[in-house]
Amino acid sequence: MHDPPGVLNHPRSSILNGGILRGDILIRRLFLGLSILLGLVISFGWSTSCFCQTEAPRPPISIGDFQPKPQLKVASTDIVQAKFPVVDIHSHFWIRLKHDTDSLEQFVAMMNRNNIALNVSLDGTLGQQLDDHIDYLWRNHKNRFLIFTNIDWKGTGKQDDPTTWVCNQPGFAKKMAFELAEAKTRGVSGLKVFKSFGLENRNADGSFTEIDDERFDPIWAACGELGLPVIMHTADPSAFFEPIDAKNERYEELSRRPEWHFPEGKFPRRNELHAARNRLFAKHPKTTFIAAHFGNDAEDLQETSQLLLKHPNVVVEFASRISELGRQPFTSRDFFLKHSDRILFGTDGPWPEARYRAYWRFLETRDEYFAYSEKPIPPQGLWRIYGIDLPDEVLEKIYYKNAVRVIPGVKERLDGWNLLHIYDSTNPDGGSPQKRGP
Ligand SMILES: [Zn+2]
Repeated sequence: MHDPPGVLNHPRSSILNGGILRGDILIRRLFLGLSILLGLVISFGWSTSCFCQTEAPRPPISIGDFQPKPQLKVASTDIVQAKFPVVDIHSHFWIRLKHDTDSLEQFVAMMNRNNIALNVSLDGTLGQQLDDHIDYLWRNHKNRFLIFTNIDWKGTGKQDDPTTWVCNQPGFAKKMAFELAEAKTRGVSGLKVFKSFGLENRNADGSFTEIDDERFDPIWAACGELGLPVIMHTADPSAFFEPIDAKNERYEELSRRPEWHFPEGKFPRRNELHAARNRLFAKHPKTTFIAAHFGNDAEDLQETSQLLLKHPNVVVEFASRISELGRQPFTSRDFFLKHSDRILFGTDGPWPEARYRAYWRFLETRDEYFAYSEKPIPPQGLWRIYGIDLPDEVLEKIYYKNAVRVIPGVKERLDGWNLLHIYDSTNPDGGSPQKRGP
């Protein structure tokens, strides 16, 4: 039986049908297809003016210039002042304001607008600096500021010769204990220890001084006896101890501030510093320690929780760490609820007003994906944060009640200042705090 004239053997049958095109037809069709394609491409290029051949090449964006504008449309709460009076227990009025009088007056007006009752300055180094600091902050505003003192570990010794530093001379710690007792009689509320203790201080032989070096035990014991809390900044964020490479989450920041990097081999490791600090906390159970910046472990709240559970004499504060806490809002909220009696409010200011408002927003709202800093490039990691919406009873503890318990001088000032004070919205400077309620 013959195959019917048809599909399979027909000269015009398509390739799809298993046929083979004749050469001349194939060329004609190819030419037609190409013409249509070319027409489409040209008309698209003219109509949109973005014909790929004529578009200017995009210049590469450096990491610091990448400032994406979120297109997210979500609730944004404009909180102009804290819900309860605030005691900011971590500020630097020498480091940041350099004892400038006008800046201080502007700052006090900002405190009034934002319901910041008190500020603790951590910059009163024992000696002349303490005298100057007391004069600067207390001449007109003794009821609004408290002062922590610092120890000068080097004295007039040579920077590159630790044998000449005062901390390596016999009797140093006892002398400091005596000076701390004297500072207390002048109204000082505590002792601040900077991160240099662990990352810079050296023994006479040039090795790094261990944080729990027993030579300095009389200092920590004296603070316990005097009732002076010790706020201790130990180590730094984890990323500062990692290589500065494409995997470092603070690459942009470390590129700007390479002096904040502590590479392996040159500096003690972060876990060693934390371990030595924790041994110190355990050795002095009668001394209250404030582990600054959430114990410098805001990236690992399980670890920070363990720190608080193991050491009843320790509290934490979160200055310059809403950037970390606000990117893990569920874990942070759980932490704040669980340890609500052990957290103090701190900012590391003075900052511009917008920075304080980010703190109110972080603590008081459910706002999503907002900037933790007023700077166009987020200074502590290129991300945004979320609010943790704390209940009022927790907010009150964080804002001032825990500080009343931990820091001498807070209660007297707050009693005098009156918890009902509030910003006078009719006065652009905030004016004197006004009373809220009857
Ligand atoms: Zn600080």
